Amino acid sequence: MILLDGKKTSNDLKVEIAESVKQLKAQGKKTPHLAAILVGTDGASMTYVSSKVKACHLVGFNSTLIELPSETTEATLLHEIEKLNNNNDIDGFIVQLPLPKHINEQKVLNAVDPDKDVDGFHPTNVGRMALDMPCFLPATPFGILELLERYHVKTSGKHVVVIGRSHIVGRPMSILMSQKRKAGDATVTITHSRTKNLKEFTLQADIIVAALGIPEFLTGDMVKDGVTIIDVGITRVEDATKKSGYRLAGDVHFESVSKKASFITPVPGGVGPMTIAMLMKNTLLACERKENNFVI
Ligand code: NAD
Repeated sequence: MILLDGKKTSNDLKVEIAESVKQLKAQGKKTPHLAAILVGTDGASMTYVSSKVKACHLVGFNSTLIELPSETTEATLLHEIEKLNNNNDIDGFIVQLPLPKHINEQKVLNAVDPDKDVDGFHPTNVGRMALDMPCFLPATPFGILELLERYHVKTSGKHVVVIGRSHIVGRPMSILMSQKRKAGDATVTITHSRTKNLKEFTLQADIIVAALGIPEFLTGDMVKDGVTIIDVGITRVEDATKKSGYRLAGDVHFESVSKKASFITPVPGGVGPMTIAMLMKNTLLACERKENNFVI
């Protein structure tokens, strides 16, 4: 069994990005600048955003964090987005999800300039992705493709079963894996909460992408020998032995599944760090595209 080490791979990627930034600076070009809007004080969101800001510093980007109180109105948030859209120094920005219930998430995502949409959530980028056109790929699926490529996991002609159909993970993953690309050319089955007899599908899978958010849902008896496992899930589970009072659990029961797997991502240290590295990659791309008048 080979561990798909997202921590190491994301560090390699960040070193490569830092090198590109050094070169941009040496050529007197603009330093990439990522901004993030955080609304409210959700613990997990605050952790994610601070990891993203930390990653910016590590690769040599400029970063701006806009923190807004949880009672911020939709109109105020849309105004902040407009300001970032019009700010020439900002190459890309993200609005950390989830948003408070009184704010319409889709309306907010639609307001982001697609050329600065480094999360790849705007309908323009999603549509371009579906049509194999240049776009910003959503960071988590992008990170999974990168992991599969860097570990030379064979995907062509393989059967991929994706569990979960969310807009940010399951759906784009199913589209990308079916496309003609390095980590692609697969036969894809997408499953979800209404799928009957899920185990019948997972037992046939050469590759399983588990993105449903139920801790340790996928167990050893649900997979075949030699399977490749991508565990996207991150759930905080109470754990009195930890200082924080919780541990992070994936959607895969690692102990039983890893015995049968040929490749598997751990949680933590698998898909999570890759997501942040790919956000950096998209920001670099946004900056380069702007420098080149959007011709690349
Ligand atoms: P979501 O809640 O939006 O979607 C969950 C999906 O799982 C739904 O499509 C639902 O139909 C499906 N589902 C629910 N129960 C099921 C069942 N019993 N059988 C089959 N399918 C079922 O989730 P999401 O935003 O895609 O996130 C999924 C998990 O991945 C969460 O734990 C989240 O925290 C994690 N996540 C991690 C990263 C990362 O960077 N590692 C990024 C995004 C999300």
